[in-house]
Amino acid sequence: RINNGSFQNDTIYALSSGAGKAGIAVIRISGPACIEVYKGLCPAKPPPKPRYAGVRTLLEPGSTNTSDANIVDSDALVLYFPGPKTITGEDVLELHVHGGSATVKAVLAAIAKCASSEKIRYAEPGEFTKRSFLNGRLDLAQVESLGDTLAAETEHQRRAAVRGNSGVLGETYESWREQLLLARGEIEALIDFSEDQHFDESPTELLTNVTRLVDGILHSIQMHKLGSERSELLRNGIRIALLGPPNVGKSSLMNQIVGREASIVSSEAGTTRDIVEASLDIRGYLCSFADTAGIRTEESELICNPDQLSSFTIGAIEREGIRRARQKALDSDVVIVLASVERTENGGHWISYDRETLELAARAQKCLVGINKTDTVDRETLKLLIQDFKTSALGHVQGLEDSEPLTLSCKAAATQAAGLTDPGGVHALTEKLAQSFSELTSLPGDMQHLLGVTERQNQLLSECQLHLENFIQEARIRAADGEGEPDVVLAAEHLRLAANELAAITGRGDSGDVEEVLGVIFEKFCVGK
Ligand code: GDP
Ligand code: ZN
Repeated sequence: RINNGSFQNDTIYALSSGAGKAGIAVIRISGPACIEVYKGLCPAKPPPKPRYAGVRTLLEPGSTNTSDANIVDSDALVLYFPGPKTITGEDVLELHVHGGSATVKAVLAAIAKCASSEKIRYAEPGEFTKRSFLNGRLDLAQVESLGDTLAAETEHQRRAAVRGNSGVLGETYESWREQLLLARGEIEALIDFSEDQHFDESPTELLTNVTRLVDGILHSIQMHKLGSERSELLRNGIRIALLGPPNVGKSSLMNQIVGREASIVSSEAGTTRDIVEASLDIRGYLCSFADTAGIRTEESELICNPDQLSSFTIGAIEREGIRRARQKALDSDVVIVLASVERTENGGHWISYDRETLELAARAQKCLVGINKTDTVDRETLKLLIQDFKTSALGHVQGLEDSEPLTLSCKAAATQAAGLTDPGGVHALTEKLAQSFSELTSLPGDMQHLLGVTERQNQLLSECQLHLENFIQEARIRAADGEGEPDVVLAAEHLRLAANELAAITGRGDSGDVEEVLGVIFEKFCVGK
């Protein structure tokens, strides 16, 4: 157990504000040498009242007068927070200095000179937060949500991260753990004394009561795992695939969405030969948006294209592109299938779509169907075409029978016709997308905080779940037997193991590999946090 009140002997310091150009830079110092550092930089004046800001001139440590040559920074704002009720649980000194990089460098160098090198050093990534944890100011669940908060790039990521900050999750796991350990204690008492002592509950009653408790926790674990899965979508991004035959306007649509409805989050967009992917922020949701090579099949071309008079074959390269597009559809949370209005050689119209793609898309969690190039046809004809498309195409696909296709025109969207709020319907499509995202990631109102459950916690909850299920099985076998001694030793052991998994979530209790867990969590932090 390394985590209870183990105060560190050395003092750490780091630049805590962003490293870019800014008016003010915040430097944080934490540890027993804070006052020493203060006196080194401001020998003439006492420190400001705790938690109040004071204006000070910072001097080169050891200088004997306040001549300009000795000034490191003037008009710095200094705050002193005596431990233990501070962010790290230690004494903390905060210096708000001028933001220029030369000033920051000079102040950091001056701090290093205020105490011997065994006593003070530059902080490692996440070390301030690590000390908060070690000194009991934050539990691991809060540390993780802090990490998520710092990493949040989109609005919904930020909101999910904030859910975990409150400490409610940690308190919940801690209370489950206590209840399980208490139950284990009662069962063990049974083992030790059942021969010669009288108990209020018979062994069967006790097992039944504990089973009820465990059932309740198992049910809650299900909810917590759901929360984690939903927030995983927010953290890692919702995967969207754009599918349809060649030439229906998939790339045009992607450009329109990126250009007007979304912003690009990462420029590391993976571009393979036949799938173009971009990481987008659509209405606050992180999405990975994939524009695929067109999918077509010989049959569908023959069915819907009136100009396609004879059968043809699809070449090897196109076939590979189609295979990858199909795989992408299977790997995505949301699929947009695009069809388009096309003109026949003699001036008629038809809708280009691929039946197999529709079937594939219908299997995704969410599927949107759009018909593009509606600018090429008059309203009346469009109505008839859509009616026909609904009965002859969507009507035959399970799950899409009742879906209403969205009418789109990337051309109109690109030209931005005057007076129209949503030329081309790209805005309406984005609204539909956002609605799907919301449905994929939402939780009932009283469960919002479960969005704070991280992937690591989810895994530990799964382990805990297994142990609890084992317990239930053990307890049930006994109940069904009716005769023979219940293996209460084994049952109690399952409870202990389950409690251990919960301890690993918050980092409290005596879970063995706290150091390992700390390593995993803190490596993601930046210096100064
Ligand atoms: P993809 O193969 O599905 O990615 O289709 P593209 O986006 O490359 O578009 C194929 C062709 O259709 C291009 O010549 C586009 O200019 C054209 N196109 C795309 N959207 C529209 C539209 O809404 N109206 C019209 N008239 N043409 C469009
Ligand atoms: Zn394309």
